[in-house]
Order: sequence, then C-alpha cells, then structure tokens
Amino acid sequence: MAGNNSANGSWTRRRVLQAGGAAGLWAALGGPAVGAAERSGSKRVVVVGGGPGGATCAKYLRKYDPSVSVTLVERNAHYYTCFGGNWYLSGFRELDSLRHSYSALEKEHGVQVVQDTVTGWDAEKGRVELAGGEALDFDRLVVSPGIDFRWEEVEGMDEGDTEEVPHAWEGGEQYRILRRQLEAMEDGGTVAVCPPANPFRCPPGPYERVSLIAHYLKEHKPRSKVLVLDAKDKFSKQGLFEEGWAELYGDMIEWVPGSEGGVIDRVEPGARKVLTQEGFEEHEVDVLNVIPPQRAGRIAREMGLTDDSGWCPVDQRTFESTVQPNVHVIGDAAIAGDMPKSGFAANNHGKMTAAAIVSRFRGHDMPDPSLVNTCYSLVGPEYGISVAAVYRYEDEELRSIEEAGGVSPSDADSFFRMREARYTRGWYEAIADDIFG
Ligand code: FAD
Repeated sequence: MAGNNSANGSWTRRRVLQAGGAAGLWAALGGPAVGAAERSGSKRVVVVGGGPGGATCAKYLRKYDPSVSVTLVERNAHYYTCFGGNWYLSGFRELDSLRHSYSALEKEHGVQVVQDTVTGWDAEKGRVELAGGEALDFDRLVVSPGIDFRWEEVEGMDEGDTEEVPHAWEGGEQYRILRRQLEAMEDGGTVAVCPPANPFRCPPGPYERVSLIAHYLKEHKPRSKVLVLDAKDKFSKQGLFEEGWAELYGDMIEWVPGSEGGVIDRVEPGARKVLTQEGFEEHEVDVLNVIPPQRAGRIAREMGLTDDSGWCPVDQRTFESTVQPNVHVIGDAAIAGDMPKSGFAANNHGKMTAAAIVSRFRGHDMPDPSLVNTCYSLVGPEYGISVAAVYRYEDEELRSIEEAGGVSPSDADSFFRMREARYTRGWYEAIADDIFG
C-alpha cells in the first residue's frame, strides 16, 4: 500500500495513471506533485460525505497534490456499501464484509476525517457548520451526500415505517432488517419488491435484488414467490435479467410493469399491504420492500444546491455547482448527463473533481474529461451480467459514446455467465480498495 508520500516521489507517474482511471487527469495537473506546495500554497478542501464519491475525491486530492489540506466529514464511523447488499440478502456474503473504515484515508493518505454531520454553511465566508458545534473553513467544498427519499410521494408510509417495510437502499442496518424478514417468512410466502420511477440510485439494483431473493427462496423456501410492482414499463438490462430469471427460477418471479398495475397508490405498512393504481388492486404480502422515489441528499437541498428536479446541476466538466461557486457536487446527488447513479460513476466523479480542483489551484485549465461506468449484476451467485459505457463531454453534457461499451450478450453459455459473476466479485474488491484503501 502506498503511503501519503507523493511529495517524496514514491508515487510514480505510471502508478497514478493506473489508479486514476479517468484518462489524462494526471497529465492535466502538470506532472508529478513534487513541489506542488509552492504552486498551490496551503489550500483547504472540505469534503462532505464519505461514500464512493466523497471518499474517492478526498483520497485523490491528496494523491494529486499532497500540499492540499483535505478534511472529510462523514456522519458514520464506517461505511457499508450498498453494492454487495443484495448478495448479503441472498446469504452468500456477510454484512460485515461490506463495511469499510476510513483509517487508510487518514493514515496512508493524510486525509483528516471528522465524524460529524454537516448541518449548514456560510457560503460567503467559505465555512461549513457541524452538528458537534465546530466549523470548518474551506477554499473549495465538495458535497457528496448521496440520496434522500421522497416520502411525500409514498402515501401511507414514511421513514418511521422502515422497520416494518425496509427500503434497504442505504447501506447497513436496513439490509439486516430485510434479511431477517426473509429468514422469518414461511415457505409459500410472497415477497414484493417495488422499484421506483427514474432517476434513482443504481438502475439495475432492484432487479439484481429480485434475482437474489429468488435465489435464496429457491434454496430455502421453494414454494414462495417474488412479486415485482414496478413504477416503470422497462428497466436496465431487462432482456438479460428476464432470460436469467426464466433459466434459473422458472415462474417464481412475476414482474408487473407500471402501465399494467405496477404503480403504487398507497401502502399499509402494518398489514404489509400495497394498493396499486390500476384498478386499485390490493396485494397483501409477507415481506414488503418499497424502494421510494429519490432526490439529492438532504444537506444538498438545505445548502440550496438543487434545482426543481431535486438533483444538483453542475458543470459536467468539473462538477462545480452551477448554483454556487467554489462548490462541487458529485456522486448520486449530481446531474451527470447520461451517467447512471452508481458507485463506479461516483468514484469517477471523485477523481475528476479532485483533478479539476487541483488544476484550478494551480491555475491550469481542466481538459474535457472522458469517464467510464460498468454495472455488474448477479442473477445468481454464478450467473453475472454487465453493462459498460464510456462518456465524453459534448455540448456541455456527459454523453455516452455509441461505439464504446455495451451489454453482455444474450443466450451466452453458463461458462460465460460464471466468468462475469467472477468479474463482478473482482470488481467489488478493486473498487472498494480504490475508494477506501
Ligand atoms: P453515498 O454512498 O450515499 O454516500 C454518501 C455519504 O454521505 C454517506 O456515507 C452519508 O452518511 C454521508 N452524509 C450525507 N449527508 C451528510 C452530512 N450532512 N454530513 C456528513 N455526512 C453526510 N453501484 C455500482 O457502481 N455498482 C453496483 O453494483 C451497485 N450496486 C448497488 C446495489 C444496491 C442495492 C444499491 C442500493 C446501490 C448500488 N449501487 C451500485 C449504487 C451505489 O451504492 C451508489 O451509487 C453510491 O453509493 C453513490 O455514492 P455517493 O458517494 O454519491 O453517496
């Protein structure tokens, strides 16, 4: 593991390029960080939120220029990834293995990690306020708070009901609750998963969940069913998921599209009952997983960084807010053109933003970026599928390049699916190390 010592030259140009992933960033910064202190002075960056976006940005700011003082404010002591959460629901990964600490960021990379909650700010002074009473001054602020739920759009339930009806769309405890409910359910029961309308965090995530819950049921409660009440008429990697569902789970999964009765009208959490809009059909189920509609994390809204869509508009070259100067918004909270709201995308935003900030401190221009995203999903433990894309900055937006990327082939053989499942697990280890290692 490399230490926080770019200034003594131990981070070679090649290694940083390998680690960076966002092409050309290092070159854009004007070469190695040796002597960076004289160029940038002692600039202060505060990063809000220690998920894939914020933690990556904090780490790479220090890699790109160790003279920059970086403080990461995160309300939790540890981070539980949502990626891999569905594997835990299926029973082939422990929740603790999805937990990451910030100690490498502190010890290896010299990021100051403050466990606290950002409650407000003074934009003019360049200062954020923390729940613990402290305030932190910054030259640049990076906000990566993830998502918040639009509870007002789910009639009949709110955050207080998530013990009964977990969303399991933020890492940690919510997954534990959902898994306990699956374990407690009798064979022959029905699990309903209710995915929201676009845009939302991780477009293939609900369907990986459906697949892996079906896997668990097939092994332990084979007379049970999974009912998918979807707000949409189509979804990410649909053909591939449906092919895998038929192959692995027969008729265990029933998917109801929005236009045919999938849209939720009301939830009765105590009774685990869902009333849908088309003809107000009633579904009383044994385990109910409502994934509510979403918007940018609360602090982004409270700081005035969102627009009418509920998400944060940014200059998609630098992720600088178009509403507030000197503030960058990254990860799920940002409007990022064609890029999906994924951990891999947030990780890319983090690196790109680190490069943009260091470039700005040094008085350099940020070149037009090129970004990537791959979303792997498991349909079964040994059955993986993926979608990959490359994004270029065009007409002021990050646009997916048509000739680059693609999805896994349909009707591939079991060896191909097994290899993709292995890539999926390899991807997890690699990205977790890139963010937190
Ligand atoms: P988050 O991960 O939500 O991090 C935000 C952090 O900010 C949190 O730690 C939070 O505690 C902190 N925070 C918020 N407000 C404050 C505040 N005021 N003060 C201090 N701290 C604050 N992505 C993939 O790329 N691949 C996958 O396979 C994949 N699978 C998924 C499966 C599921 C079931 C789900 C739900 C998601 C999946 N994702 C996947 C998506 C991925 O988890 C998100 O896109 C990613 O977490 C977004 O990162 P972020 O940094 O924007 O936000």
